Amino acid sequence: MQQLIRHISLKRKSLGFDELKAEVIDPGFCTRCGACVAFCKNLGFNGQPKKISECVLDEGALECSKNGTCYDHCPVTTALSSEDVFGERGDESLGFYRKVVPLRATKEAILQKAQDGGAVTSILCAALESGRIEGVLAVDKDERWRSIPKVVTSIEDLINAAGTKYWASHTVQNLGKTIRELKLRKIAIVGTPCQINGVRKLQKGLLNVKQLEIITVGLFCMEAFSYEKLVEYFGSRLDLKKVKKMDIKKGKFLIESTEKIEIPLSEVKRFVPEHCLVCTDFSAELADISVGSVGTPAGWSTAIVRSQVGEELLKNAIEKGYVQIEEAVSFGPVKKLVINKRDRATDEIKRRKNEKLPLPPKAVK
Ligand SMILES: Cc1cc2nc3c(=O)[nH]c(=O)nc-3n(C[C@H](O)[C@H](O)[C@H](O)COP(=O)(O)OP(=O)(O)OC[C@H]3O[C@@H](n4cnc5c(N)ncnc54)[C@H](O)[C@@H]3O)c2cc1C
Ligand code: SF4
Ligand code: SF4
Ligand code: SF4
Repeated sequence: MQQLIRHISLKRKSLGFDELKAEVIDPGFCTRCGACVAFCKNLGFNGQPKKISECVLDEGALECSKNGTCYDHCPVTTALSSEDVFGERGDESLGFYRKVVPLRATKEAILQKAQDGGAVTSILCAALESGRIEGVLAVDKDERWRSIPKVVTSIEDLINAAGTKYWASHTVQNLGKTIRELKLRKIAIVGTPCQINGVRKLQKGLLNVKQLEIITVGLFCMEAFSYEKLVEYFGSRLDLKKVKKMDIKKGKFLIESTEKIEIPLSEVKRFVPEHCLVCTDFSAELADISVGSVGTPAGWSTAIVRSQVGEELLKNAIEKGYVQIEEAVSFGPVKKLVINKRDRATDEIKRRKNEKLPLPPKAVK
């Protein structure tokens, strides 16, 4: 395994966990993606990344061998661009892409569990079935709807993990275990734009080796919510064990339980964490394929195919009969959300500058 991993060569003296904590974690900019923890035995994750032992720099092993592996791969310290990943800047709103297609799962079992058209689960089921990938880093949930990052290797487990959990999940942390312990070499990861950015940084730096393929499926994301604050807000009004689905549609936060609960989105916006308010990527611009609900009718998914690998995944899902394409995509609503998110982040960063509040490192570099 050791020869699979090549450490990034750093042009400057690296910053380490102390700086990550001071610049990213303590001011509230940590997205809880788990990228920093994935390859360091001195870090653990307990709500957020934590030191569990002093930095031991372990040259040659699959751990930090140069002070700063955690800092360098955090999506908040620096951001990659479409140009860094695909070699081209692409469209001003959507980033680099090859095509945008409406998709809907054909399998009833997937549609029953899926958030929207089930495109994510269908594409990945087809990829697992054909051996194109060996496992998927997905996010399941427990009976109280807490997100559980999992490595799934079966179609059944992948379908069980379908559906959106509207809060952070330290999904990327599992990348280390998947490569080291499970020894998988063809891995897909589903994630929000911040998680995909962390994966791309690891892919460009630490995991930049031929024998290892990491495929990224991004989710559109306007914002996440604090799980704890949402649960506190609903209190005894909501029995989480009975909730079947949560959704955001037409300005409302919707909960399907024994009854349907509708809350104006404006009411729960105060539970959006700091790190989402300064985030600029709506459409997961660095993913091989990005999927969301906006742009297509209810029960369909909008898929932005960006890379050659994304094209192959889509072709495979169509050939294996996992997805259908019939409707059209409306670009207008997708582009509107892209712009809204960028404008919100610009305003928030301006406000923070004026009030001399800390800024995410990538906003000042
Ligand atoms: C926090 C968040 C905010 C979102 N905001 C928007 C939005 O504003 N507009 C929009 O169009 N779409 C948004 N989406 C995406 C949308 O909710 C669906 O995930 C997307 O349309 C894919 O639907 P699907 O039916 O193809 O997915 P499914 O087939 O149901 O598969 C969903 C996949 O997402 C994974 N997943 C679930 N929760 C998380 C999580 N928290 N982190 C990482 N992976 C997860 C699951 O493991 C599963 O593999 C958001 C998603 C998230 C997680
Ligand atoms: S050993 Fe390296 S990756 Fe781990 S906490 Fe220290 S600087 Fe970060
Ligand atoms: S890599 Fe992810 S989990 Fe770690 S500090 Fe950065 S945002 Fe937080
Ligand atoms: S808004 Fe940005 S930081 Fe927040 S979950 Fe979505 S991609 Fe991550």
